[in-house]
Order: sequence, then structure tokens, then C-alpha cells
Amino acid sequence: MRIVTIEEHFTAQEIIDENNKFTEAPEFYKSMVFVGNSLTDIDGERIDFMDKHKIDMQVLSYTSPVSDQVPASEAVRICKRANDILAEKIKPHPERFAAFATLPMADPVEAAQELERCVKEYNFCGALLAGQFQGHFYEEKSFFPIFAKAAELDVPISFHPAPINQVIQDFYYTSPEYSAFIAGQFASAGFGWHLDVGVHEVRLILSGIFDKLPNLKIIAGHWGELIPAYLERLDYMMPPQSTGLRKKISEYYKENFYITPSGILSPMQFEYMVTLIGAEHIMWAVDYPYIKQGNFYEFLMSAEFLTNEEKELIAHKNAEKILHIKGEN
Ligand code: CA
Repeated sequence: MRIVTIEEHFTAQEIIDENNKFTEAPEFYKSMVFVGNSLTDIDGERIDFMDKHKIDMQVLSYTSPVSDQVPASEAVRICKRANDILAEKIKPHPERFAAFATLPMADPVEAAQELERCVKEYNFCGALLAGQFQGHFYEEKSFFPIFAKAAELDVPISFHPAPINQVIQDFYYTSPEYSAFIAGQFASAGFGWHLDVGVHEVRLILSGIFDKLPNLKIIAGHWGELIPAYLERLDYMMPPQSTGLRKKISEYYKENFYITPSGILSPMQFEYMVTLIGAEHIMWAVDYPYIKQGNFYEFLMSAEFLTNEEKELIAHKNAEKILHIKGEN
């Protein structure tokens, strides 16, 4: 079965160097050296990995905010360069790679234009946004042009985690009873940044953006970042009578959101998500190169609760439709 995975990461040394001119890389990213050259590689070990694990196509994205710490004027230039580099890199392999744009969030109007350029010029599949921008969540009005452009172009926006606010990290995740290293893991990929993206999803829904842009599509990894399990509660505590929205929170979630496993292979969670959200709203993602466990093909194929048609949707058809990727001939 054809497999398209949509949360697979890339970076370029030139972009890292550009960022480092303006800011010291956050401590967290220094720890990411454990993935070695896997992030910058395209046609070496990456394609070997894909072949070995039956992945036909990866949709690539920059792994962290490309320009959030640099001045707005520089952010636009760096993001354009980042997207140009990624487009150049995948050009020789149109059957194996597609890409999400990275956007200069410091200038939302320019960001919307950059999204349009990447979709029209490079056939990029949408954009990936990591975390918030300098403490501002994306339901704020200033970011609306980006989402309006995504809806107009009919491309999704992928919400990806990034290091959380330091005050929240200190208050919620740090304790004298365990190490700073564990606090950092707890606050980031262990739990904290998943909750952070989950909160972001709900903020977006509560802002009414999906009433304004009913066609807007948001992708959330890691099985929706905790929110699916709380949809019933969210509906109960914040019904349309209180929110003033046209629909229940769960209805927006089930219509406007698409979720992926991002390398979390829990069979019970998978079955629950299919029951709750439906196979039409699940796409496949490995989170390469951070996750390199090799059994995600078998994990999908062995899911007894899925029909073959549902497996096809999750494996590639949803991604082909939502990301406008050319399918099998
Ligand atoms: Ca990731």
C-alpha cells in the first residue's frame, strides 16, 4: 500500500547559520544534535530509510521556527531563502518528497504572500507553524491573513510544537524533587508542548475563525495533541450558547482538523481516534528523523478495526486529497 507521511523534518545549515547571527540557538535545539545529519540529508540515509520502511513519500518541513527570533525585515528574507532551499532539494525527487512552507510570522501579510508563492511556484502543500510567535497565539487578529490565504488556496496549516513559555515551564513542570533534565523533557516532548498545541487548537476554535473560514484545515500531530479525548467535556462546559459560535467545539474539530500519530504507536489510541474522528480525518506521520522506529507500516496494516479502504485513506488518500499530492497512476 502506498504510504505518504506528512510530519517529516528537514533543515539546512545555511538557515541555522542565519539564525545564529541574530540569536543564540535555544538550549533545547542544541540537544537535537542527536539526530546528526539526518535533518539536512535528503537523498542519502533518508531515502534509504523510506525504502526500508515502505514509505513512498515524505512531506518535509523545517523542524523549528525558522525566523521567530530575528527582526521582521530579516525574517521575511530568511524564510524565503529557507523555502527556496527546500524546493531546490526536493526538485530532483518529485515522486518521493513534497513540502510545507515555513512562514515569517513577524509579518503576517508577508507570510500570507510567502504561502501563496510557495504553493503556486513550488507546489508546496501548505505551511507548518511551530509553537506561537513571541508569546502570541495565532487566533489573534493580526495573523488572520495567513489563515485566510490558506483557506483561499485550499491548503492546510500544520500546528507543530515548539519550546513553551519559560514561566509556564518553571511553574508547571519544574520541581525540586526531580532533575532539571527531566523537567525539560516533561515540559517539552514528554508532555508540555503537546498540551501547549492542544490549548492553541482550542483557542483557534473559540476565536470563531472557522465560522469566518469554514474551509480552513488544520493538521495536529500526536493524535491531535490531547484535545480529542476532551471534546465531550469542552462541548459540555462551553456550548454554543456560551461561546456564541455556530457549532459545538467538537463539530469544528471533526470537520476542520486532521490528526496524525507523529510516531506515537499506541493501538488503543489509534482505534479510539478512528472511532472518534473517523478515518477520513487521519493522515500518517512518522516524525523522521526524531522517531526512527521501524514498525509504523505494520502498525497501520495490522489494525484489525480498519477496513482496507480506511487503511488506504489513512496511508495516502487523505494526504493526496487534502495536500493536493499527485496519487498513484
Ligand atoms: Ca515533529
